[in-house]
Amino acid sequence: MKISRRDFVKTGSIFSGGLILNSALPQNLFPKSLIEGKKPIVLSTWAPNIKANEKAIEILLNDKSSLDAIEEGIKVTEADPNDHSVGYGGLPDAEGIVTLDASIMDWNGNAGSVAFLQNIMHPISVARMVMEKTSHVMLAGEGAKKFALQNGFKEENLLTEEAKQSWLNWKQTQNKNENHDTIGMLAIDNFGNMSGGVSTSGLAFKLHGRVGDSPIIGAAMFVDNEVGGAVATGNGEFVMRTLGAFLIVEKMREGLSSQKACEFAIERIYKTHKDLSNMNVSYLALSKTGELGAYSLKSGFTYCYTTQKENKSYTSDFLMK
Ligand code: ASP
Repeated sequence: MKISRRDFVKTGSIFSGGLILNSALPQNLFPKSLIEGKKPIVLSTWAPNIKANEKAIEILLNDKSSLDAIEEGIKVTEADPNDHSVGYGGLPDAEGIVTLDASIMDWNGNAGSVAFLQNIMHPISVARMVMEKTSHVMLAGEGAKKFALQNGFKEENLLTEEAKQSWLNWKQTQNKNENHDTIGMLAIDNFGNMSGGVSTSGLAFKLHGRVGDSPIIGAAMFVDNEVGGAVATGNGEFVMRTLGAFLIVEKMREGLSSQKACEFAIERIYKTHKDLSNMNVSYLALSKTGELGAYSLKSGFTYCYTTQKENKSYTSDFLMK
């Protein structure tokens, strides 16, 4: 059979299982027939982030990019003093200092991140600027802050009175009541392009200097426009050791559904770690066709799924029943 270039473009993904010949498709476009009627889509970790999804879908319905939606959506949570795991109001480290990690990725495989950033309200925007304005992927600590200040961000105190009180109480009791509410978000825009982002103040009362999974591309977040994306929340050490988000996307590339790929990555953590006490990890995945997956090691993980038709939170299934 002789295949013209046009036929090749149309049928390439069927012949190859979408693996190799898909590169002949115009980059950045998902198969229209599959995603039509679903996009735009926003998926994020934790039920309270419904307000972030609301912002993100508003951006997408105005025909803006998924990258804009991720940034603007996550900024809602970063600015919320009542969210104690992200940005302003985030619980500090063991020394009472709020340190922030964030990363962002677009449909062309561009990535940017910041680690151990202090006194800047919107680490997700700094991460985007690292991606767009530098030839690097990650900036950390003082250098990240200097870069932010040079690019128009203001220095602000992010430690709220409430967060300070929690820290003072923790100092008295050393009670390891950690909270995990990192925002991880995936979005597909009206053009079929996916972006992802994650932002956190990390584990409460962590050692000063500790950096989690959020700024490590492929750990807490990964997007490949030909396959889909994944985000993580929970104890970042377990996610980093198994490179969770990248693992999920690669399993999706091999043909697993978004749900099965999340389950695979959770099972990997379960199999490779002996001590799973006082920790949890949860994953979300979104395929290029808009199919979602959600799975957690333990109970309690919630997430938000938003389209033009619905903006709802759901409770995820989990492994350790
Ligand atoms: N994954 C984050 C971290 O380890 C914590 C979280 O999800 O709340 O820094």
